[in-house]
Amino acid sequence: MTESKVVLHFPPHLVDKPLIYKLSRDFDLEFNILKASVTPQEEGILVLELKGDDDNFQHAIAYLKENGVDVQALTQDINLNYELCIHCGLCVPICPVSALVKDGETDEVKFVKEKCIACELCGKVCPYNAIEVSLNA
Ligand code: SF4
Ligand code: SF4
Repeated sequence: MTESKVVLHFPPHLVDKPLIYKLSRDFDLEFNILKASVTPQEEGILVLELKGDDDNFQHAIAYLKENGVDVQALTQDINLNYELCIHCGLCVPICPVSALVKDGETDEVKFVKEKCIACELCGKVCPYNAIEVSLNA
């Protein structure tokens, strides 16, 4: 039995395809959608809890990858290094789940860790390397 949390990135042309439904129908996996979102670039992001037979699990992940879905284990931990951040706000509209927000009063960017799905999109736009990624144990 395998039980794992995964982050799936769907390119825009796959967003409305029933790939997740097939995980249950064809691979007999139980799934629980923890978070779902579409980025401004119309990439779909799903965070799923998946559970099922080991072989079925591996076949399902292979199936998703063959169909162009990027699959990432949810083992990363994201942090905002406030020593490096200059609160420029570039990362705020990039975050698909509003885990980076600009405080209207102080004009500072805050990181809401509980919302973060570790997609790493913010790290790609931060010019000051203030977004730090580490692996969970
Ligand atoms: S892009 Fe980087 S420096 Fe700018 S607000 Fe976000 S974390 Fe801070
Ligand atoms: S990694 Fe960055 S962009 Fe992705 S959810 Fe977390 S804070 Fe938002």
